[in-house]
Amino acid sequence: MDGSALSASEQGAGKPVPASGEPSGPPPVLSREELIAKVRAYHPRVRSELLGMAYDFAKKHHGEQSRDSGEAYYSHPVQVASLLADVRLDEVTIAAGLLHDVVEDTEIDIGDIEVRFGADVAELVDGVTKLDKLEFTSRETAQAENFQKFLLAMTSDIRVLLVKLADRLHNMETLHFRKKPESRQRTARETMDIYAPLARRVGLYDLAARMDDLAFRELNPEARRAIIFRLEELERENRGDLDRIRADLVRLLDATGIKYRIRGRRKQPYSLWRKLERKSISFRDVADLFAFRVIVSEPMDCYQVLGVLHTNWACIPDRFRDFISVPKPNGYASIHTTLRASGNRRVELQIRTETMDLTAEYGVAAHWGYKNRSYGFDLDSARAAGLDPDANLKAFAELLRDGAEPGEFLEHAKLEMYREHVFTFSPKGKLIILPAGAMPLDFAYAVHSAVGDTAIGARINGEEKSLRRPLKNGDVVEIIRGKTAQPVRGWEMLTHTGRAKSALRRLERERDTAEFRRLGEGLINQALRRTGADPVDVMLLDVARALGFRTLDDMREAVGRGRVQTAQIIQQVFPGYQPERTDDSAKTPIDSDHAPLFVEGNDLTPGVTLHLGACCHPVPGDRIIGVQVPEKGLVVHVSSCPRLAEYDDRPELWRDLKWTSLARTGAVAVARIRVNAANQRGVLAKLCSAVAESNGNITGISTASRHPDFIELMMDIEVEDLKRLTQILAALRSLAVVDRAVRDQEGQDDQ
Ligand code: MN
Repeated sequence: MDGSALSASEQGAGKPVPASGEPSGPPPVLSREELIAKVRAYHPRVRSELLGMAYDFAKKHHGEQSRDSGEAYYSHPVQVASLLADVRLDEVTIAAGLLHDVVEDTEIDIGDIEVRFGADVAELVDGVTKLDKLEFTSRETAQAENFQKFLLAMTSDIRVLLVKLADRLHNMETLHFRKKPESRQRTARETMDIYAPLARRVGLYDLAARMDDLAFRELNPEARRAIIFRLEELERENRGDLDRIRADLVRLLDATGIKYRIRGRRKQPYSLWRKLERKSISFRDVADLFAFRVIVSEPMDCYQVLGVLHTNWACIPDRFRDFISVPKPNGYASIHTTLRASGNRRVELQIRTETMDLTAEYGVAAHWGYKNRSYGFDLDSARAAGLDPDANLKAFAELLRDGAEPGEFLEHAKLEMYREHVFTFSPKGKLIILPAGAMPLDFAYAVHSAVGDTAIGARINGEEKSLRRPLKNGDVVEIIRGKTAQPVRGWEMLTHTGRAKSALRRLERERDTAEFRRLGEGLINQALRRTGADPVDVMLLDVARALGFRTLDDMREAVGRGRVQTAQIIQQVFPGYQPERTDDSAKTPIDSDHAPLFVEGNDLTPGVTLHLGACCHPVPGDRIIGVQVPEKGLVVHVSSCPRLAEYDDRPELWRDLKWTSLARTGAVAVARIRVNAANQRGVLAKLCSAVAESNGNITGISTASRHPDFIELMMDIEVEDLKRLTQILAALRSLAVVDRAVRDQEGQDDQ
C-alpha cells in the first residue's frame, strides 16, 4: 500500500482493514498441513507432531458442532491458531489456540489436555476457559474499564490474553453470521470497549484496529461507509500532491546516504470517526493530512532523518513526540512529527527502526523468536526494540516465559495501577471493586450500608471465613447478616475502606446517642424528684418543645451530653423555682448533677456544682486540679494554670481530680484556640472546615485583631479530649493560610 494513503496521527495500524466496501471475509480454513507449514515458516524447528495432534483433537472432539456460519465448529479454533501464527507465537500458544474451546464445549477436561499435550498447553487452555467463565458471569454488570482491569489482573501468563484476543477477533470476523441483532451489538460494543483497548495496551495495534473496524461496521455501518467514501474522494483529489511530496521526501532522504524505506499510511475509519465525535473539527482538518512512515535500520539514523526533515520543512509545534528516548510502557518506540511541506501541505511522519516497527505491529508478541536454539520470548530483541531497558525487563521476560503471579507480571509491565485493586463478586455475579487489602466488611458496605450494618460473618467462595481475611481477586463473597445492626466495638480494625470505617463510626455514634439519652432521662427524673415532683406527672414533651427540641429524646440526649442543664428544664416546669445555687462566674459551668460523671476524686462534696476554668479551658486528657470555692463550687483548672497561685495559701480547698471515662465521650469541654492567619478571602471557611474535618465542633468564634495582612481569631471548640484538640491544632497548622495556632490559656502566651 505504499504511498496510497491519506492519513493521520495514530501509530501502529500496519495492515489496516481494506478501506473500501465490505471487509474481505476470513480466509479459508487451513488444513492441518497448511497450519503447520505457516508456523514452520518462522519457526523451522516447530514440534509439528504437537500441532498436528492438537489439530486432530479439536476436529474430533468438536465433532458435529457447527458455527452460525454453517461451518464445522473446528474451523474456529483453527482460525484462532492461524491468527496466533500471524503474530508468530510459539507452538504451545498455537496448540492452546487449537484447544481453547475444547474444555468449555465438550466432555474433555483439563486433566485430559495435560496428559496429552503437557502442562504448558493445559495451563494456557485452563486460563482461557476461566476467562470465558468470568466473562459469562459478570457481563451484565461489568463496566468496560473495570472488566478490562479484571481481565488483566486475572491473566497470569500473557499468552492466555493473546489467545483470548485472537478468539475475540475471529468471533468478530464471523459476527455477521449471528442472527440476533442484540447479541451482535452487545458483542461489538464489548469488543470496542474492552478487547480493542486491551490489545492496544499490550501493543497489538494492528489487531486492535481490526477489532475496532469490525465493531464499527456492526454498530454504525452508515457512518463507516460515509467516512470511507470521503476518504476515497480526498485521495483522488490529492493524488498529484501526494506523489509530489513523496518524491520530495525520497530526494531529501537519498541525499543522506542512509538506508531507508517509506510506507504510506491509511487512516482507520473508526479512529477518524472518534476524532470527529470528540473534537469540533471538520473532516478535512482530520483527514487532509499526508502520512508516511520512514523505516531505517539504526536508532541513530532516526535522528538523522529527523534532522534533515526539520531543516527542510517547518515543524508544527506541539506535534513532535520522541518515543525512542522515552518509549511507551508497552514498548512502543518511534518518533512522531508533523511538518509543513512544499505547497503548504501538512505531512505527518513516523520515524523508526525495523525492530521498532515490528514492536508497533506485534507488541509484546514481536519478541518471540529463537534464542539458544529454542523458540521463546527473546529478551535482547525486546530490549533492542526499546522495551524498558532496565533490569526489570529481565524479570518481565522471565515472567512471560514462566507464567508467574499476575501481580508480578503487571508490575513489570508497568501496569501496577491495577494491583491497587481487588476484584470480587457477589453471589449473583456483580463485580465489586475494592482497594487491595479490603476485607469482608468493606465488601458488605460497598454493596449497601444496610448490608454492612447487619453483617455478622462472611462466606467466601462458599466457605465460612473470618472477617479478618483480606479478599483476593475473583473471590465470590456472601455476607451473612443478623437481624439488627450489631457492630462490635473495634470492628473498624477489620476494615480498609473509608466508607466502611465511617459507617462503623456512625453506628458507634448512634449507640453513644442511645446511652446519652438514657443518662439524660435519669438526670431529668432525678432533678424533678429533688423539687418534690413526680416525673410521671410532668408533660416533658411540651417542655422539650418549649426549649426548642423536636423530640423528647433530643432533649434527653442534650442533657446527657451536658449541653443543656437540668436547671433549665426545672425552670421551664416550675417558673421561678429557686435552686440552692450560687452564681456561676466560670464560663462553662456544668450542672451539679453532672459533676461526678465527669471528674472523680476524693473528698468531693456530693452534688457539688462543677465549673471548668474560664482561665485555662481544661479538656479531658489535661492534668487537672480542683479548687473547692466556697459559695461557688468546684472549679477545675489545668494543673499548670497560673490562677492556682491564688489558692496557694489555702491547701484545704485543693482537690486531686481525674477525668472519668464518660468525660471523654461527652464532648463537654470547650477548648479555646488562638489562630493567626493570613487576612484573605475564604480564610474563615478554610479554618472551619479544617476543624470540622478533625471532628471538632466550633461553638464560638471572635476576631481578636485584624490587620491588612493577618487576622487573629479566638475559636471555642467543643472537644471530647486533649487528643482531639491536638489533632485540631495540627490540622490548623497544616493549612497554608495559618501562621500559628495555639491553645489560649492565661499565662501561656506562647507554647
Ligand atoms: Mn473460542
